[in-house]
Amino acid sequence: MQKPFEIVIVGGGTAGWLSAAFLSQQLPQTSGRSVKITLVEASDIPTIGVGEATTPSLRQTLAACGIHEIELLLNCDATFKHGIKFTQWRRGPNEDPGEHYFHPFGDPIEVAGQSVVRQWGQLPVEERGEFADVFSVQSEMAQSGRAPKHAKDAPYDGALSYAYHLDAGKLAQFLKERFRKLGVNHIIGTVEGINFKQTDENTKTDIQSVSLADGRTISGDLFLDCTGFAARLINHDKTNHFHDKTDILFVDRAVTTRIPHDGIPSINGYTTSTAQDAGWIWDINLQSRLGVGYVYSSRYTDDETALETLARYLGKPATSLEARKLSMRIGYHQQQWRGNCVAIGLSSGFLEPLESTGIYLAEMVNWALAEFIPRYMSGHNPQTQYNDAIAHHYENIVDFLKLHYCTTGRTDTPFWVDNTDPDTVPETLKAKLSAWKADCPSVYDFDRRIQCFSAPNYQFVLYGMGWKGHQACDPTVKPEYQALMEQVKIRRDRLRQFVLRDTLSNVDIYQALMNTTLPKDGITMTPGTPPSSSASNFQLR
Ligand SMILES: Cc1cc2nc3c(=O)[nH]c(=O)nc-3n(C[C@H](O)[C@H](O)[C@H](O)COP(=O)(O)OP(=O)(O)OC[C@H]3O[C@@H](n4cnc5c(N)ncnc54)[C@H](O)[C@@H]3O)c2cc1C
Repeated sequence: MQKPFEIVIVGGGTAGWLSAAFLSQQLPQTSGRSVKITLVEASDIPTIGVGEATTPSLRQTLAACGIHEIELLLNCDATFKHGIKFTQWRRGPNEDPGEHYFHPFGDPIEVAGQSVVRQWGQLPVEERGEFADVFSVQSEMAQSGRAPKHAKDAPYDGALSYAYHLDAGKLAQFLKERFRKLGVNHIIGTVEGINFKQTDENTKTDIQSVSLADGRTISGDLFLDCTGFAARLINHDKTNHFHDKTDILFVDRAVTTRIPHDGIPSINGYTTSTAQDAGWIWDINLQSRLGVGYVYSSRYTDDETALETLARYLGKPATSLEARKLSMRIGYHQQQWRGNCVAIGLSSGFLEPLESTGIYLAEMVNWALAEFIPRYMSGHNPQTQYNDAIAHHYENIVDFLKLHYCTTGRTDTPFWVDNTDPDTVPETLKAKLSAWKADCPSVYDFDRRIQCFSAPNYQFVLYGMGWKGHQACDPTVKPEYQALMEQVKIRRDRLRQFVLRDTLSNVDIYQALMNTTLPKDGITMTPGTPPSSSASNFQLR
């Protein structure tokens, strides 16, 4: 019998345990050779302990791990997320207090299967209305305390697309307990040494084994580096080039805290992101508490002022907060798959938490590995193709994050002024923005099948930020465009009625779901194409 293919995961944070869960469920179905998974984690190196907002792709990923949605809600303090509310991003609080827009999940409403965003953008500005309110019901549903689904809906399905807010520490713990029982070999130990294959002593690319502080040696065929910012394996020799993105994305520090809240009735089903002088504050509602953090740029403010800003936001004295300070390395490694080592999670890279892409990227890597590992096992070397795919994910996200900053109308602090400096905007984004002066973001602007953000996301954020592009339409076609917008309104009204009939309020849904009996056989998911972040539908079997 062929010896099992041994995967060694180093690191027991969200990335490590999600990978153990996903690959232990997905690989045996696709490889034809048994796979053994060992996860090694240090007991004396803490996990990052943040990462509470996710994208809709997580529904598909958790289903692929065979986890029931109710288990997630019961074990991880999870709540439903409709999207993100951006406050004071267009104008500062002194200019327009409370100003905001919404980036919902799901695509803009279409007419007869066609996008009419181009026609909307050619109407006079005063006739257009707020983009997210015209083309989606999700902002209204989110802000009126509606859940995206009904308790009778199938797990991970609902009337609207949705993601979750969750306690990342509890998620990792839940996955650990579940997948240790399901056969993942769990070792507590700190990796201190890396031993390379004899044939490879000069190039030091293929790892034979890792040595633990207590003297044990763990060997494997493929190593997954989930050691967080330490990047202990993938950058063992400090020569793995790091694409630093701080000249584009300025934030590099965070101060975070947790506050108990008043219970389910006060839960917001969306992330609130409130722009500040030198960054922005996230405000996330879990079932039992708030997670709040100020993400800021150390070039534009200091830690003490940042803590005071967070305290002012919460209406509490700074001295009363139990706050944690974190540094972030913004960018990604050139070699994501190096020899027989693959980086997942923060060891791969990180691009600030604005659109919740940290866990998303760990998911995408796992979906990719489920396809590439069987090839690797059969002697193929997928490193170049794989590294190109992951670099594309990062660059796609860099552009999208920068879009939120470089289109601001804020001029009240140097942080915002400098963010609109063309020298800080990637050429790829500049070219798109130039095209969008006369037209809307189109599917042709995004040429990959699998990427986090594409035309619908850009439309919601670009127009949410108040972008006034597009040339006015010919007066002879204007009535036609106005009629199309009437059609959008009719569709929106119908969708609104359907959603109101087919969903529960936040107050009711958690109560109803918590009382549901779990099916004994769990759920299974067909392995297939990875989800995109705005995917609203997928098939379960
Ligand atoms: C301020 C901030 C906010 C964020 N917000 C979000 C968000 O809202 N949404 C989102 O999707 N993502 C977010 N992220 C990213 C998210 O936190 C991470 O992607 C996610 O937690 C995965 O982390 P990790 O598992 O890679 O690393 P970690 O949590 O740091 O885990 C590293 C693991 O490696 C182990 N380890 C390290 N060195 C060794 C060694 N030598 N030997 C053995 N074990 C070792 C540690 O013990 C630990 O178990 C945020 C990140 C930051 C910094």
